[in-house]
Amino acid sequence: MADGSLVQQIADNVSDAIVAKDLQGRFLLFNPAAERLSGRSASEVLGRTERDLFPLAQARELERDDQRIRRDREVFSVEETLDLGDGKHVLQAVKGPLFDARGELSGTFVVARDITRSKLDEHELRIAAVVFESQIGMLVTDAHGVVQRVNGAFTRITGYAAEEIVGRNPRMLRSGLQPPAFYTDMWRQLREHGHWQGELVNRHRDGSLYHERLDISAIRDARGAVLHYVGSMSDITREKSASARIEHLRYHDPLTELPNRSLLQDRLAHALQADSRSGEYGALLLLDLDDFKNVNDSLGHAFGDRVLVQAAQRMRRAIRTEDTLARFAGDTFAVLVEGLGRSPSEAATRAAAIAAKLRHGLEQPFRVDARAVSCGASIGLTLFDGDAEEVDVLMREAELAMYQAKERGPGGLCFFEQAMQVELEARNALEADMRAALAARQFVLHYQGQFDAQGRRIGAEALLRWRHPVRGLLAPGCFIELAEQTGLIEPLGQWVLEQACAQLAAWARDAATRDLSLAVNVSARQFRHADFVERVLRTVEAAGADARRLQLEITESLALENLQDTVRKLRELRAQGVGVALDDFGTGNSSLAYLAQLPLDQIKIDKSFVDKLPQDPTSALIVQAVLAMGHGMGLQVIAEGVETQAQHEHLRALGCDAFQGFLFARPVATAEF
Ligand code: C2E
Ligand code: MG
Ligand code: MG
Repeated sequence: MADGSLVQQIADNVSDAIVAKDLQGRFLLFNPAAERLSGRSASEVLGRTERDLFPLAQARELERDDQRIRRDREVFSVEETLDLGDGKHVLQAVKGPLFDARGELSGTFVVARDITRSKLDEHELRIAAVVFESQIGMLVTDAHGVVQRVNGAFTRITGYAAEEIVGRNPRMLRSGLQPPAFYTDMWRQLREHGHWQGELVNRHRDGSLYHERLDISAIRDARGAVLHYVGSMSDITREKSASARIEHLRYHDPLTELPNRSLLQDRLAHALQADSRSGEYGALLLLDLDDFKNVNDSLGHAFGDRVLVQAAQRMRRAIRTEDTLARFAGDTFAVLVEGLGRSPSEAATRAAAIAAKLRHGLEQPFRVDARAVSCGASIGLTLFDGDAEEVDVLMREAELAMYQAKERGPGGLCFFEQAMQVELEARNALEADMRAALAARQFVLHYQGQFDAQGRRIGAEALLRWRHPVRGLLAPGCFIELAEQTGLIEPLGQWVLEQACAQLAAWARDAATRDLSLAVNVSARQFRHADFVERVLRTVEAAGADARRLQLEITESLALENLQDTVRKLRELRAQGVGVALDDFGTGNSSLAYLAQLPLDQIKIDKSFVDKLPQDPTSALIVQAVLAMGHGMGLQVIAEGVETQAQHEHLRALGCDAFQGFLFARPVATAEF
């Protein structure tokens, strides 16, 4: 076979491997390309078979091709993968029969080419193609940014088909929502780092906007010159709108969709900055719906919610778009207005006009289903010009003004004044002092005697005093109300009770004092506590005092605030022997019918009536009526604040049972008592 010089030359020089075998599969020809491909020399291969060269399984496969040639006597081409010792090679082979001079089949030939490299390339291309058609939008431009290729996902995201954008600049997707500086920066990064990543809003072919996350890489040649830019993008509009909703909820009230307190605080902080620059006044208004609680209680929360939504809408219409209307809490709304001018009086006038407009908007009844309800509003207002003011302080000021407005009755408007501020600070200081005072044992009880008609001492009232280190001895008028508001009355009241019970126990050990009763004032917050009765009884027991010597003083307003609860607790207390007195009687405006339901032992006629005796006929009549009614109900009647002999005589003549006042005794410390 290798005799023809022409054939020999070709076989020696072609880059394809050429191999010939006899019918037994022994190699007859193995050209230099075959040597290079297999890594074996012709001399070691010739005369041997594939079984000598390849693993058995592979040799068998090759033998099957030879069998096919002997059977079909035809040339065919095949792509086969052979392990050639240095790894797998993909070969493109043409195989066929060899015939001798007589036309008899004499062997087989193979012409093979190693296509491993191009196969790999093809693979990569295929992978690249799959990637390119993924869910991620892709765009390839030339060095000048002219689009060369886009994929299907790009079309889905942008709405532009390949033929509509290839040859053009991606600028056509711009929404105009990113400022020019955004793109300048993007190109600067691409030039300097070859990469840019970010989020932007683009415009879909149909005009709608979408959020995309975009990643651009520069593809450079070996010398570093940019060949292409490849952009990959995903549509994150959904993600964005979900997070925008979350963001929205963080700063808005879900019911009315108005800004909430946090957002109001933000805006207020901005306003303070802006106003200190502009020198203009702004105002913060707090508006509380009068009687809303009633609406809620009587018509239900769902109804109340709808009233709030309508109220919000009306107020929104009453102010300018640049003003902030926020839901401050429950039925309290806040309005922040700026640009009220540079003069405080002008600003105040304009703010008051806004308040009037807001209130006017709320005047019409709210219609929900077939019902109509009215609720006016009380408005507190504070002005600011940004100088050295703080958000928290402003909100407190507006709140204080609003409480003041509420106190003036429904529909009130109240400006925050410096005097209120002074009061506020004093109250804050007092509160802090008071907390410390309890721990520092600065509180003491004083005792004021109570006497019967014959002038015998029958008992005493315990009256709280604060030995203030700076201000001296303070009467409860200076601090009891604040203690009630801050909740400090609970531990303080408990302390009073313990102290009083200890006193009773001490008196019981002395014949001179053993029969005295002791009256203790109870505040509403203390009384409303669910455990009040148990606490009292436990305290009495712990001190070893006699419950029948203890009398609790409650006021009309406390008693009637929740009549059922009051009656139940008083019954339980009286069942254990604890007495109950109604303090300051006649100062409230409660109906006698209600009072008749209270299980009481004693009524205390308030000092204000006693004061006007005996000259004032009205007071004399009231006292007479109280005595008649009290006695009719089987109660003891005591007069407090008796200062003069004339008062004493008059009261005694009317049948008053007992007396308390400076005429007999002032409140004094235990030792003196
Ligand atoms: P209250 O219970 O009506 O106590 C009577 C007040 O009248 C006492 O004032 C007493 O000092 C005063 N007073 C008695 N006789 C006369 C008099 O002849 N002339 C004048 N001008 N005043 C007289 P105080 O001690 O300042 O107590 C004021 C109020 O503070 C009490 O009124 C009571 O409501 C409350 N309070 C006192 N101690 C306590 C307490 O331990 N707990 C609670 N929750 N409240 C208390
Ligand atoms: Mg009292
Ligand atoms: Mg009283």
